[in-house]
Order: sequence, then structure tokens, then C-alpha cells
Amino acid sequence: MTQEGIMTETEVITYVKATLDFFDETAELACTEIGDGNLNYVFHVVDQASDRSLIVKQAGSVARISDEFIVSPDRNRIETEILRLQGTLAPGYVPEVYHYDGEKNCVVMEDLSDYTILRKALLEQRQFPELAEHLSTFLVETLVSTSDLVLNHKEKKELVKSFTNPELCEITEDLVYTEPFFPHPRNDVFAGTRPYVEQEIWGDNRLALETAKLKFHFLTHAQALLHGDLHTGSIFVTPTETKVIDPEFAFYGPAGYDIGNLIANFIFAYVHSGYTSEGAEQESFQAYILETIETLVDSFRTKFVLAFEAKATEPVARYEGFLEHYLAGVVEDAIAVAGLELCRRVIGIAKVADLTSITDEQARTEAEITCLTLGKTFILERANYQTGSSITDAIKGVP
Ligand code: ADP
Ligand code: MG
Ligand code: MG
Ligand code: MG
Repeated sequence: MTQEGIMTETEVITYVKATLDFFDETAELACTEIGDGNLNYVFHVVDQASDRSLIVKQAGSVARISDEFIVSPDRNRIETEILRLQGTLAPGYVPEVYHYDGEKNCVVMEDLSDYTILRKALLEQRQFPELAEHLSTFLVETLVSTSDLVLNHKEKKELVKSFTNPELCEITEDLVYTEPFFPHPRNDVFAGTRPYVEQEIWGDNRLALETAKLKFHFLTHAQALLHGDLHTGSIFVTPTETKVIDPEFAFYGPAGYDIGNLIANFIFAYVHSGYTSEGAEQESFQAYILETIETLVDSFRTKFVLAFEAKATEPVARYEGFLEHYLAGVVEDAIAVAGLELCRRVIGIAKVADLTSITDEQARTEAEITCLTLGKTFILERANYQTGSSITDAIKGVP
């Protein structure tokens, strides 16, 4: 059942024709709802005759998966504004926005149907050699330019206001930072993994304390404008191009958040291949994932320094030692977020196909415990992984 206020496929065709000059007036349009996410409705509209097409993404006032989650449709404005901003800061890395409608809460954008969602591609063990360079560029260009390093502090505060996103932040606060770390009723733990979770996660007070510190850091550290939901299901790829979609969770938070989320999701793909492929195929794919993580982190660091040198306007940020201090903090936050994501996708309600598609029970249990072991290590020892190779050594070191 569709929600109230959400257009039908036929209504979308009428809407698009009445609102945009994109298609010929006489064009015969076909529309299909193709959304597969948790929150929104995504319509694909195509004119077969001219081969022109576009996407309409519409937000309702509750989540698509469950009306338990009340989520302001204002997230659609936030998604539109950040897509436009990212499009100027990191040209070519996001879909083009054609139109925004604050009454219908929908955004009309470039159709990327010729691309593949990265999670799906990685489950098929496909490799994208330029991916890590693309993602590190996207992250550095969007983060550094929205931080107090570069922006006039008053302008930055205006952006903080405009990207205040309380309801979607609350989802992250609950599902990432809180519920997975105690026996909350909404958790969904696989039977084989449960003893490990009870003993090593819920039974560890030291871990609980660190997650509390991290939650308060997330609540209070308005450092840079984040994507906020940058998992491998929010990235479209071709062999030569990368586009980031679905930034409705955007807000001002710790600059390491997005890269940490990415690292964890690359680890899910790595672990998945460990149980679903073998021999040379597995070796090649796992080497590719490790190289991607290493390049992502090391290029992020290098590009961050270059962007800082080229763009920083805050004089005290140029005091000797400051940039090193700042960047070390960003990477430490990233490792912590990678740890949280590794745990919450196993324990919490929002799962990843990388793990749930492992059909053998013993294999799935082992895969999940691998993720939890790494996740816990990353949370507790988050200051110790400053380079790409220190992270990949940790991944290789887990049984
Ligand atoms: P949600 O916020 O509900 O997760 P997404 O923005 O992630 O929605 O979109 C859900 C799905 O819709 C994507 O996985 C993708 O298949 C499709 N989709 C979204 N945006 C586009 C686009 N610009 N071009 C083509 N397909 C898209
Ligand atoms: Mg999505
Ligand atoms: Mg989603
Ligand atoms: Mg979304």
C-alpha cells in the first residue's frame, strides 16, 4: 500500500508533463516505481521514442518500511539542497537536479539507470579501479569546503541551520550509536551469532562507555557537512564513473563519519566474498577491496592536506601542528564509525545483503563474528589506525 500523499505512477507522468519542459508535449511516457530503500518512493519516467528519462524521488511523512518511523518530508529539501551544493563542490559526482517541489516533497533528477548500485556490483565481485580515487576526491571536496577551515564561520553557521535534520539524525543516534550495544527489543540478532553478542558486545562495559562517548561526539561536533548515509547502496558506478546518491541524512557532524561508513561497507563486501567464492577469484577480489580501502584512506589524507593548503582561510588553522592534529582526529572518528557500522549491521534492525545473503548458518555466524570482532577493535582502539595499511593489516589479521 502506498502512503497518503505519494503519487501514483500515472500521477507522476501528469506531474512531470505539467511541471517540466524536459519531455516533448506529445511524448508517451512510461513510469515505474523502482524504490528499494527504507524511506522513500523513486519513480523512473521514460520516453521510449526519444530515450530521454528522469527520476522523481518523493518523501512521505513516515518511512516506507514501517510507519513506526515518523520522518519529516523536509528531508527531501535537504537532499535537494545538498545535491546542488555537492554538484558545485565536487562536479560530476552526484546526479544533476532538475526540479524541487516543497509541496509534494519530491525532487526530479538525472536518471542513472545505466549505472549499477555498488553494493550489488561488489556482491558480484566486480572491480572498479578508480573508485577509491573518486570517493576520496568527493569526500575531501565536500568536507573541507564546508568546514570552518575554509568557510567564513558565520556562513557556516547558516549552513548548519539549513541542514538541521533532527529526525534523520535521531535514526542514526538510535540505530547506530545506541540500540546495537544493549539488548534493545528492536535488535535482530542471528541465532548463531547471539552468544558472541551477549558476551563480547552487551557484556563489555568498556565498549558501552566508548559508544557513549562517540554518541555525544556525534551529537555535538558540527565539523563539516556530511552525506550521512554513505554505504555502498548509496553509490552508483560504471567502470569509469562514480555518483553518490541519497544524501537525505545530510547534516553538520564529525567529518570522519562518511569515510568510516564506507570502510565498514567495503569490509562487508570483503567478508562476503570469503564465504561465497574461492581460489583465484576470491584472492583477486579481496586484494582489490584491501587496496580500495588503503587508497581511500591514504588519498583522503593526501587530498585533505592539498585542499587545506589551497583553500583554508582560518589563520590559526595554519599554526604549526594544527592540520596534523585536525586530520588525525578526522581519521580516528572514521575508524570509530567503521567500528559502529560493523556492529550495528550485524546486531541492529537494518541489515546488509553482504551478510544476510550467506545462506549457510555456520558461515553466516563466522562472517558476522568477524565483523563484530573488527568492529569492537576499531571502537576501542580507534586512535591506532591512522594509515590505510594499518586498517588492512587489522582486516587480514582477523580469522
Ligand atoms: P531511499 O532514500 O529510499 O533509500 P534511494 O535514493 O537510495 O532511496 O533510491 C532507492 C533506489 O532507487 C536506488 O537503490 C536505485 O535503485 C534507485 N534510484 C535512486 N536514484 C536514482 C537515480 N538518480 N537514477 C536511477 N535510479 C535511482
Ligand atoms: Mg537509499
Ligand atoms: Mg535507504
Ligand atoms: Mg535514503
